[in-house]
Amino acid sequence: MAYVIKESCISCGACEPECPVNAISNGGDKYVIDAATCIECGVCAGVCPVGAPEKA
Ligand code: SF4
Ligand code: SF4
Repeated sequence: MAYVIKESCISCGACEPECPVNAISNGGDKYVIDAATCIECGVCAGVCPVGAPEKA
């Protein structure tokens, strides 16, 4: 399991540098999480201004 970034992502980039395992990258129209790398810490959900990351 991992967190996933919903379509509501506005690509602000705030979450990317906060991820402790560098699982987040800019996927083009929105940011994306590498499910194999994510450790479900929830930090991205805490910093996101629009609540886009959620636990899958
Ligand atoms: Fe990174 Fe944690 Fe978000 Fe997973 S839940 S993408 S490990 S910040
Ligand atoms: Fe998208 Fe939220 Fe990450 Fe900003 S913090 S890039 S809105 S998921």
